[in-house]
Amino acid sequence: MTPISFEFYPPKTDEQRAQLDRTATRLKELAPDYVSVTFGAGGSTLSHTPEAIQRLRGQHAYDAAPHITCMGGSREEIRGLLKLYRALGARRLVTLRGDLPSGMVSPGDLRYASELVEFIRTETGDHFHIEVAAYPEMHPQARDSRVDIENFVRKVRAGADGAITQYFYNADAYFRFVDDVRAAGVDVPVVPGIMPISNFSQIRRFSEMCGAEIPRWIAQRMQSYGDDAASVREFGAEVVAQLCRRLIDGGAPALHFYTLNLAKPTLNVLARLG
Ligand code: FAD
Repeated sequence: MTPISFEFYPPKTDEQRAQLDRTATRLKELAPDYVSVTFGAGGSTLSHTPEAIQRLRGQHAYDAAPHITCMGGSREEIRGLLKLYRALGARRLVTLRGDLPSGMVSPGDLRYASELVEFIRTETGDHFHIEVAAYPEMHPQARDSRVDIENFVRKVRAGADGAITQYFYNADAYFRFVDDVRAAGVDVPVVPGIMPISNFSQIRRFSEMCGAEIPRWIAQRMQSYGDDAASVREFGAEVVAQLCRRLIDGGAPALHFYTLNLAKPTLNVLARLG
């Protein structure tokens, strides 16, 4: 069976905490390898990610891995977080550069995820299993896709054990990316990031920001459903399940689901995969 993992964002209010609890409970039956919790660059959720990790590890008995970013942070702050995550029992980190929040001017002590990976290895040796981000459709700020792949390779050579991709709806982009990085000598697992579709206008907004392409045929079909939420959900689940099936058949080592703290969209996809 293909291993799966789930990504959550850290709740900030009691209502969001209750929602995470419900989602974590419902998704538990799918026995994910681990779950991860995002981190706001520039410290905006500085106190929320560790709290969520503690909640998911303690109350829900998940192997919960924090995301950690360097944008806007100092070496000292990152050192403090690493110490905290060790104390909470974490053995896995999703390691990212992050993006500078609007209004924040200082980029921090480390410029790229590769420098953060290097820093974590220097500070904590092999304690953490380190995942980094990969972009089958290119990171939106990269000069070109060749340079982006070189930067990805640098990040892995700095000490990453694996990668999780930005979400995409075009399986060929993933297969091509994996071929390219294998040709460049990278042999770590590259796990596809899967974004279930339940709210199409939200996915379209995200996609514009992160550079993920929504194929025209999917966008057209979604538009034709208008306010018919049930058809959007049904078609979205079908399309994403087909994508997952293709990825598994093509050799994807695992699947990482962006849950947005909702159980149903992910469950709907996984139910179709059996
Ligand atoms: P990098 O790998 O540092 O790359 C950023 C850009 O710089 C790329 O264009 C790259 O080509 C270029 N680059 C890299 N190294 C060099 C170099 N040496 N010289 C010149 N250019 C270089 N964001 C959050 O804030 N919090 C999260 O929790 C979070 N989780 C994520 C999880 C996943 C699985 C993914 C895919 C993304 C996540 N993000 C998160 C978003 C991520 O922070 C942004 O996409 C960010 O813009 C880039 O982060 P990175 O780690 O890929 O950066």
